[in-house]
Amino acid sequence: MLLRELTMPLDTIKGIGPVAVKVLAKRGIDRVQALLCHYPRTWEDRSCYRPLKDFRLAPVCTVVRILARDWFFNSRTGKQDLKVYVEDQGSRAVLVCYNQPFMERLLVVGAYYWLWGTFQYKFGELQSSSFEVEALPAGTPPPSLDTGAPLGKLILSRNFGRILPVYPLSEGLTQGKVRRFMEQALDQYPSLEDEVPAHLLKQRHLLPKAQALRALHFPPSLAVLEQARKTLIYEELFSLELLIAQRALARRTLVREDALPNQEPLQDGSPIAGDPGSWVPLQRRLLECLPFRLTPGQEAVMRTINQEMDGPYPMARLLQGDVGSGKTLVSLLAALRGVERSGQTALMAPTELLARQHGETAARLLEPLGVRCGFLSGNLKAQGRTQTLKRLSAGELDLVVGTHALFSKDVQYKSLRLVIIDEQHRFGVLQRQAIMDKGEQPDLLMMSATPIPRTLALTIFGDLDISVIRDLPPGRKPVITHLTRESNETKVYDFVRKELSAGRQAYFVYPLIEADDRSSLKAAQSMAARLSGEVFPQHTVALIHGKLDEDTKRRTMEAFRTGEVRVLVATSVVEVGVDVPNASCMVIEQAERFGLAALHQLRGRVGRGEVQSYCFLIYSDATPSGTSDSALTDQGKARLKVMLESTDGFVIAEEDLKLRGPGHITGTEQAGFLALGIADPLRDTVLLEQARTDAFATTYRGGDVALDGPHD
Ligand code: ADP
Ligand code: MG
Repeated sequence: MLLRELTMPLDTIKGIGPVAVKVLAKRGIDRVQALLCHYPRTWEDRSCYRPLKDFRLAPVCTVVRILARDWFFNSRTGKQDLKVYVEDQGSRAVLVCYNQPFMERLLVVGAYYWLWGTFQYKFGELQSSSFEVEALPAGTPPPSLDTGAPLGKLILSRNFGRILPVYPLSEGLTQGKVRRFMEQALDQYPSLEDEVPAHLLKQRHLLPKAQALRALHFPPSLAVLEQARKTLIYEELFSLELLIAQRALARRTLVREDALPNQEPLQDGSPIAGDPGSWVPLQRRLLECLPFRLTPGQEAVMRTINQEMDGPYPMARLLQGDVGSGKTLVSLLAALRGVERSGQTALMAPTELLARQHGETAARLLEPLGVRCGFLSGNLKAQGRTQTLKRLSAGELDLVVGTHALFSKDVQYKSLRLVIIDEQHRFGVLQRQAIMDKGEQPDLLMMSATPIPRTLALTIFGDLDISVIRDLPPGRKPVITHLTRESNETKVYDFVRKELSAGRQAYFVYPLIEADDRSSLKAAQSMAARLSGEVFPQHTVALIHGKLDEDTKRRTMEAFRTGEVRVLVATSVVEVGVDVPNASCMVIEQAERFGLAALHQLRGRVGRGEVQSYCFLIYSDATPSGTSDSALTDQGKARLKVMLESTDGFVIAEEDLKLRGPGHITGTEQAGFLALGIADPLRDTVLLEQARTDAFATTYRGGDVALDGPHD
């Protein structure tokens, strides 16, 4: 049987009664399988003799004789507590029993005990208040041992002489109970089938499943524990990668009926008229209307996309390109190809603001070509929504732009051919299915300006191919970044005033919407009033933040786009995707409050046209008392320094990773999506790569598909 097939209820385990069942259920443990997967949080090595004199190295594990006992007054609790004086091999120490008067009965003067505990010097004594004892059986002489001697053969005890698991607990559970349940469960189900093929276990030096599981809970040695952990981590990653590999294979073996013949990839990359991969008429017409040429990066991605959309199996591609590299245009060109092939395209953005903007861009550029565009979001009035849904299912819309609402249950497509997801790096492998199910094997294009570390990409986007646009449109001048103290902000205001007078526009971004008495953070609302009243009285200032209703947001953005509004005061709602090329100043106040990814995205809102643009990162002066929460932290400083030194999103992402350390990057949520138990793709990178290689080899073996796992 496989571990995941042990779905029998917990009361089939000897010793687990109705009370225990309830207590375990509270921790989410409801089946035998879940119990066995309740892994220890850590282990206590009580397998070797470690006398008191070695207390600095590790917790002691020794045999002591009780010398004396003493009550003392605990001034903190106002009660009497017990001190017990003990000795082993000439070292003496004190056990302090806070609030455990029953210890007086347990610890008998003159008797011998096994002792495990962490000790430290306090008030001139070697003390421990965190320890465990167990009496030696009456009449047993105390063993005489050397440091490090293995205890296993010497004692028959549950809690000494071995490596003990320490479990995460919750109310009603004790270590003793969980250990007992676990031992019983392991005894009742001693043989488990392996999920990993035998030849891989051998090749990767892993343990059989049953052995690994037992060793993880009750390791015979630290070396075996390590091997057991490795085995279970590998197995988990292997199962995940197997799923990814199967998906990748399925995609490559599913032949589309309408695929064009002659699928030799064009080696020199140049599209030849009439060949698969070359521009279709609609695309060509859009290109002719544009006031600029595609960048080489855009050209290259489009070549790939064109070929794949004509190809025999569905595209699944992640397009990474720094902010401002022109991903939107790429997505519209892809949509046109879908339309030409008489299919529908759904373009999803993470926020309503961005979805609206895309909707407007699409309408402006594509409707003149006869493309029928629609919009869907959760905030749409019922009537408009019903209308759009009807047209979508009847095939009267070619392109629909929107938020997650695009994939709600009641949305039906006549022939969904292409799904585009913008700026949605939090969209995992397993979440994509719902979307893809709306069509028959539609093409998928995901776009992100947030570079994802390779290891994470392997796990989350494991079955996607990846393209990168490395260049920006020509004529772009790198944004000039200045770091300024809050006390110097009037200089910034003066500078921005000049830019405004020259016809440009500016963003001011704040960490909060409304001022909050407890914090010294500046808030967008009050600053909007101040900027409009005192600082820029001759210019129109507008405010936008997440709590405004969608209609107001839309009108404000529209007014900013047309230039009617010159200064847009905002929270980080403008962080993602907003595109107003005439804006040349980005002022971020209390910039130390923002994360690197957000700062990079915010700065990316300017420098989108040909004018020289500026980004001002204003940081708070530390208050004299030094207690204010606005004091610049070291981390905050380090982030601003990175922003000053680089404008390259990939470099910034890497610095972010270094500063925050694995486990904190924009990716923990993603790892969470995968519901991994013991594995951590950021930590277990070596095992991840091995599992991936093995899973792809296993999946692809025998088929006539070349072994070409994505990214390899
Ligand atoms: P992002 O990659 O951040 O989504 P956008 O697609 O919003 O970038 O494009 C940024 C700006 O650059 C837009 O105003 C767009 O019209 C413009 N743009 C896109 N491609 C080109 C190009 N090849 N030449 C000049 N400008 C371009
Ligand atoms: Mg974009």
